[in-house]
Amino acid sequence: MRVFRSLAAALLLALPAAAWNFTGHRIIAAIAYDRLTPAARAKVDALIQAHPDYATLFTAGAPAEPAARARAAFLYASTWPDVIRGDARFYDETKPEQMPTPVLPGFQNMGRHLTWHYYDIPYAPDGAKTTEQPPPHALSELRRILATIATAPMAEAAYDLPWLEHVEGDVHNPLHATSRFLKSEPKGDAGGNFVYVTPTSNLHAFWDSQAGTDASDAYVNKYANDLTAEYPAPGSLSLNPRRWLQESYRLVRSDVYSFGLATGTLATGTKEQPITLSAGYATRARRIARQRIALAGYRLAAVLNDKFK
Ligand SMILES: [Zn+2]
Repeated sequence: MRVFRSLAAALLLALPAAAWNFTGHRIIAAIAYDRLTPAARAKVDALIQAHPDYATLFTAGAPAEPAARARAAFLYASTWPDVIRGDARFYDETKPEQMPTPVLPGFQNMGRHLTWHYYDIPYAPDGAKTTEQPPPHALSELRRILATIATAPMAEAAYDLPWLEHVEGDVHNPLHATSRFLKSEPKGDAGGNFVYVTPTSNLHAFWDSQAGTDASDAYVNKYANDLTAEYPAPGSLSLNPRRWLQESYRLVRSDVYSFGLATGTLATGTKEQPITLSAGYATRARRIARQRIALAGYRLAAVLNDKFK
């Protein structure tokens, strides 16, 4: 399973973005940042400024005006766990053959932590045997970070904050909450990465890119404003990562794999016989993704406001 996922990760490395793409993560971060209390915003800004990549990556091209610069850095930080997939300072600790890279000042470690982006609740529609994902995974890391970030030493909390921003967003994407196991695909589909579809490449990529691919400030801010107008924040917001994942998993069962199983000997959605997603499926996926992105933004604000009172 882990070896298999390393293969999936290697495939993802070749793609421009993985998990909600940069656009999706930036929208979630924008919704959250604009809803932080003054106390939480002050603490979050201080942590982001203490991150070792603040002066370089986080603020590259950011406006000089302090408030706008702080917001821009927070938005960038939400994409940082994907950025380091292709950064030579880091290494993939899940691959035994990869030598650890030197720990640079300010970092807790230099792992790419590719398994932190998802928590695979097994889905077995044809009764295939399933495998549990061992930690560390999205659930274990969200729980760890939420339990420690308010009291951890500055450097540790600064390192963890971009991970919290990012993984909290990821787990609102249904395909970060499952692997589908079929008798013909006993190692699972790696969150839809091995389900080939048209018009996009695979099911995972299809769901990741539902918010579009324009990561510019203008697009992200307009999308965030439109989305929050369409889906106002619910009265109560769950702060429990397991709950977020369970909701995503319910969508897996009700909607994500609603095209069912192809007949014949091949697993559904092979390279040779990709699944053609219907217009109805695409419309429904888009609506679900928009709701999940809005909710992820509201909940990210809620957990940060809760931790940094
Ligand atoms: Zn991710």
